[in-house]
Amino acid sequence: MLHLLCVPSGSTVTDFFYQKALQQKFEETVLVASSEALVEKARMQGIRAVTFDALANAVAEQCSAQLHERLVVRKISRKAQELILQDILDRLQEEGRLPYFGRMSGKKGFVRSLVSLMEQIGSCGATAEEIETAFAHWDGRSPVYRQKDREIAVIYREYLLYLIQNNIYDMSGLYRVAAEELAALRKAGGAVTWKALYFTGFYRFDALQLVIIRLLSQICDVWVALPYEPGRPELYGAAEFTYGDLMRYATPERLPAVPVSARAASLRHIVRNLRSPEMQPVPADQGIEIWQLSDENEEMRAVLREIKQQLRGKTLKPSEIAVVVRRMEEYSGIRDLCDEYGIPVQAEDSAALAASPVFRFVSAILETVSLHGREKTESWIAFLTQPLQKIVLELSTETVIQLAGTNYYTDYRKFLADILEKTGCEGLRQLWQEIEAIPAETTIQDYCDITGRLLSLTEIPEKAGRLYREGQITLAGFKNMVCACREILSLLQKLPQDYRFCRSARQTTDCAGFAEALADAAGKMSLSLQPENREGIAFLSAVNLEDAVFKQVYVPGLRENEFPFYKDENWIYDDRERADLAVLGITLPSSADGYGEDIHFFMNACAAATERLVLTFYADEEHNASPYIAEILSLFSDLRVQVKTAGTAAADSLSREELELALARDGQTEALKKLEPGLAESAGSDRKRLQKAAGWNGNPDDATLLQRISRQIGDRFSASKLETYRSCPFQFLVTYVWQQKAAEAAGEDMDPMQRGSLLHRVLEKFIGRHLGEKLQQAQHAELQQELDEIFDAVCQEYADKGWLYPGDFWQHDKEQQRNLLQRWLRSEIAYSEQGEWRPVSTEQSFGKKGKGEFALDINGRRIYLNGKIDRIDRAGDAYFITDYKSGDTPNKKAFADTDLQLPLYLLAAAMQNGGNVAGGGYYSLKDAERKESFMFPAAADTVPWKTFSEAKDENGTATAVSDMEDLQATLQRVLGDILDHMGEGDFSPTPSKDCERNCPAAEICRFRVLTRNREEEDLNG
Ligand code: SF4
Repeated sequence: MLHLLCVPSGSTVTDFFYQKALQQKFEETVLVASSEALVEKARMQGIRAVTFDALANAVAEQCSAQLHERLVVRKISRKAQELILQDILDRLQEEGRLPYFGRMSGKKGFVRSLVSLMEQIGSCGATAEEIETAFAHWDGRSPVYRQKDREIAVIYREYLLYLIQNNIYDMSGLYRVAAEELAALRKAGGAVTWKALYFTGFYRFDALQLVIIRLLSQICDVWVALPYEPGRPELYGAAEFTYGDLMRYATPERLPAVPVSARAASLRHIVRNLRSPEMQPVPADQGIEIWQLSDENEEMRAVLREIKQQLRGKTLKPSEIAVVVRRMEEYSGIRDLCDEYGIPVQAEDSAALAASPVFRFVSAILETVSLHGREKTESWIAFLTQPLQKIVLELSTETVIQLAGTNYYTDYRKFLADILEKTGCEGLRQLWQEIEAIPAETTIQDYCDITGRLLSLTEIPEKAGRLYREGQITLAGFKNMVCACREILSLLQKLPQDYRFCRSARQTTDCAGFAEALADAAGKMSLSLQPENREGIAFLSAVNLEDAVFKQVYVPGLRENEFPFYKDENWIYDDRERADLAVLGITLPSSADGYGEDIHFFMNACAAATERLVLTFYADEEHNASPYIAEILSLFSDLRVQVKTAGTAAADSLSREELELALARDGQTEALKKLEPGLAESAGSDRKRLQKAAGWNGNPDDATLLQRISRQIGDRFSASKLETYRSCPFQFLVTYVWQQKAAEAAGEDMDPMQRGSLLHRVLEKFIGRHLGEKLQQAQHAELQQELDEIFDAVCQEYADKGWLYPGDFWQHDKEQQRNLLQRWLRSEIAYSEQGEWRPVSTEQSFGKKGKGEFALDINGRRIYLNGKIDRIDRAGDAYFITDYKSGDTPNKKAFADTDLQLPLYLLAAAMQNGGNVAGGGYYSLKDAERKESFMFPAAADTVPWKTFSEAKDENGTATAVSDMEDLQATLQRVLGDILDHMGEGDFSPTPSKDCERNCPAAEICRFRVLTRNREEEDLNG
């Protein structure tokens, strides 16, 4: 029998389930929990508890043992799934059966996406036939997408076949087997050994899990607790499907769900009324607070400062406090920050295995095997100069560097012989012999055995232990090495198991291939450096909070895109396609499911607090406060956001870093010197900047220097050069006079500038082919294909020129950009059908030396302007200019102020095309819509999108700009102002929120320190 208990938010039935389970025999009861934490909690009560995965495994084994031969359920890892799919893709590609995915089939990123798609299809319980039928009935697909569907269906069929033939299962395969065996057992009149099962902590089940629950309920007593209240559908979107399915068979039970524990009145109000249609606002009490901070650093510091004060005042124990975040990976520095404040924390300190010195040591060995000639010598030099060699070989790396620097070795043997002669290092002689014996090609299993033996020979743990006892390395360093050795050895054991079901296990590979596979596997592993401190404050993800209770809960990061956080759907099928597939009976998870999950997580975070809940956020130009903040505010009649600063006086400092900063701000050089030499000087220079001392703060006063700066600036300006000065003169000085660029971390992913340039190029080519044409909906499929082809050709061109790295990141990114372009095309067709504007030119340059010069005489000085207009459209004799933006578009309030590009381009277009320029605007590619379009008033209603006609006058009031002459006068005034200030040597920093992002001057201007002091000065009157 199936019993369904709907548990209202903030309540629990766990104790009720415990009591019921404890009344029955241990072996006849199982509590099935949603997380390992809940499993452990139940086991501590003496109850048999498992996760759903373990239950499925046990079901399959029990049933098969009664029905036929005992089924040996071999579950494969995700890595094995990737390898199997790679094998399938390779074969299909060889057979010419992948015209759509062909070029992607060798890319790891694609294979990973495919694994996740296979899992999603598997979890919805679809067979290969059902997938093929659904695809066959999918109307309105273009021929290109039909091909994509065919290929996915073939891959899915082949994948399932492979698993069946090899008697192995992925997760959904295991669930399917469990369901099938259970159905057969029931038919045969058999029974499982359990009499009662209790499911707790789940907010949803997938299709196969629901089948298992239903079948189990036909042979034993099954109780399911589900967070659900019929009156609040907006809150329980994630549980809706599961509730609907279970209610078809279940007996609803009406047990009084026990509140987790007593709650402050305002917290009770939140858990009972969030998203309730009957909600009435009530006055707030001290149980709920909302804080706004200026940035993420201040936000975490404000939270930790308060926690530290409470722990110092002993008002709360650390274990009564939790910090709950949406995604742990966004808070990797939390442990360091807690350490800085001396706050004990229940969060493991971890490090990436691939980044550990021991792993780099192993990788360097493998690299020496793979290379030849001078490259091989270089790899030996790199290997022998690794810091770890001081421990492993006790080798002087300085000697190695000196030898390598004085001779240009092309033969590594000569190099090693010289090292041996000079150092007499016996360990190196042995290691050399071992490395020479590594075969150039063998199986993964052999390579793993050889590498494991070599690593053991190095005796790193023993040597590191000795050094630690002698005080030569720290405990953290010692642990890092020991843990890394242990993890690498276990990885070497596991790796061959992942390969045993695919071709690579039987085939040999070269050493470079093995090194890559090892690095790939290590990339997903981390080392745990410090055991959890069970007495510390809890640092938790909102995703794992079922039944968690704390007196005080802080929820930082409540801003758009962070909490709520919506996962992107798997790019192979986007949300629109998933909606179509759902109609065809294939229900894959979509972004909408993400919304339902996210509010569930937020409610869990709120419900975890019993005495006080503090919600915090910071907002900037990119992201506002989370919509959840507004929802909580609406629940109370008098709740206000508290704007906080984490800045402190020296006497109130709670960490060394706070103290240093406070002393520096107060100019307490003597105290600073005592803390650390050097800090006093840094503080001194900050004070000079504050007092606007000559030569500081971007205000050069030396006449010769000013002349040289003016020469360097020159008389040629682009819109972005002028805009930089307008938004921050100090950034202008550093960028255009000192010619510094923002440092960018080299990465595999494409930088935003390059991505923008690629999109511009695609649109230039596409629009270039359709000049003067009206695009129509009827041509959509054809245009879509054309745009796709241009996109692929431009991507290839960028890859050939080395402007993009076609690695895993790009394969993902590329499909996102393709989708973005397709969305743009849909808008473009709609705009084209609605109006008379037709494109007449693309990428029209102006202001090139000697050709199409664009000069303006301003305050007795002639300057030359240059730029490139992305696109010009025409309707009758009027022109409209367009600038594509792949990032954010400037706000209309900035027109002819910090946004100088649009007015300058309007002027340049009027000059070059000699006609009537009616206006111009931005085309946001990420939102696929025209935005912030300026039109002179007389032409305001000639375009089918929103426009404006104002710019700020000298008093800062928005005033209509009547015609081109008026616009030119406005521009002359703004540019005159810019040039006058430049001439006077005014290059002061003018900070704005988040301005340091990508600013090459951020480290020099130290605007954070300066602004904080300005605020204090204001407060002091
Ligand atoms: S960080 Fe901000 S204030 Fe400092 S130079 Fe850059 S833009 Fe100007």
